[in-house]
Amino acid sequence: MLKAAVLGATGNVGQIFVQLLENHPWFEVATVAASERSAGRTYAEASRWRQSTPIPETVAPMEVVDIMPKEVKDVDIVFSALPSNVAGKVEADFAAAGHVVVSNASAHRMDPDVPMLNPEINADHVSLIEEQQRKRKWDGILVTNPNCSTTVLTLPLKPIFDVFGIKSLIVSTMQALSGAGYPGVASLDIVDNVIPYIGGEEPKMESETQKILGTATKPADFKVSSSCHRVAAIDGHMEAVFVATKKKADPKAVAEAMENFIGEPQTLKLPSAPEKPVVVTWEPNRPQTRLDRMEGNGMSTVVGRLRKDPVMDGVKFIALGHNTIRGAAGCGVLNAEYLKAKKFI
Ligand code: NAP
Repeated sequence: MLKAAVLGATGNVGQIFVQLLENHPWFEVATVAASERSAGRTYAEASRWRQSTPIPETVAPMEVVDIMPKEVKDVDIVFSALPSNVAGKVEADFAAAGHVVVSNASAHRMDPDVPMLNPEINADHVSLIEEQQRKRKWDGILVTNPNCSTTVLTLPLKPIFDVFGIKSLIVSTMQALSGAGYPGVASLDIVDNVIPYIGGEEPKMESETQKILGTATKPADFKVSSSCHRVAAIDGHMEAVFVATKKKADPKAVAEAMENFIGEPQTLKLPSAPEKPVVVTWEPNRPQTRLDRMEGNGMSTVVGRLRKDPVMDGVKFIALGHNTIRGAAGCGVLNAEYLKAKKFI
């Protein structure tokens, strides 16, 4: 078994890492790290476990350590679920100390030498690692996941991009509360309410979508316009997507391209790879957040209401994915599995 450290292990995404790594065939949690508020306490005390499965027995008694490379020894992989303002320096310190770091934070996502992987789409961006290690004089490696709403969006976009081409797209999100971390949005702000603003989210969705669908060195050249909104769901980001395609795109042909879409995680049979990265439903009132977010163990995007778009001269649809699984820790674990399969670990 390979030993894993989770940085930010007590937070929302950190807890999902701990949950997903319980019984993982390749990785086991060996170290949990968080802020000085948690350091020195047991994981059970510090995490205030908020998941529906019991806290893993092997992790509960572990002492939480500080997020410093000298505190994290003898691990093969470091998963980071740190806030971005902390992650920038800490993740670079870990990579410089020789660790393979898989990050959820936005701090390094847009660095030109850092692969931002949604691995069914752009696993080939690992080609940047050589340049990263040379330029930064690192023995270790840093790869990131995209932002949660971008991860969910780009899975169904990839088959459209490959088969029909994309001229431009508009996306409007309905994003769950768990995307704001813990304790997140105050209950009195969100019960009986929708908040039409998520700080920093719209530019991230726009630039990250272009980076993922581009080549390793050149972003895709279509324009993206996003509008992001917080709704009172706990988990699951829903997105209304409107795509102008380069070639004529009949909804049935688009559905077929999405249903047939697989990537390297599927051909390599990676443990966390869903059988189908994109699942299409024709039920008129699906996908629904509560009913469909766990499709593919929370690793698939469910697409519904696929139809022609007369304004965009293309198609429009609803996409739904689990923001803390596919959109965060699950994508991180899948990235780590890919790095291991390709012998980077
Ligand atoms: P969170 O619930 O607020 O958890 C933050 C974690 O970081 C906690 O373990 C916390 O430890 C630790 N931390 C905070 N300040 C620290 C400091 N100064 N030094 C060391 N550790 C510190 O946040 P989250 O939702 O899990 O998000 C984690 C990261 O993933 C963020 O960068 C976020 O943008 C990204 N992300 C989140 C989602 C999502 O759906 N939630 C999706 C994609 C990406 P203590 O418990 O000790 O305070």
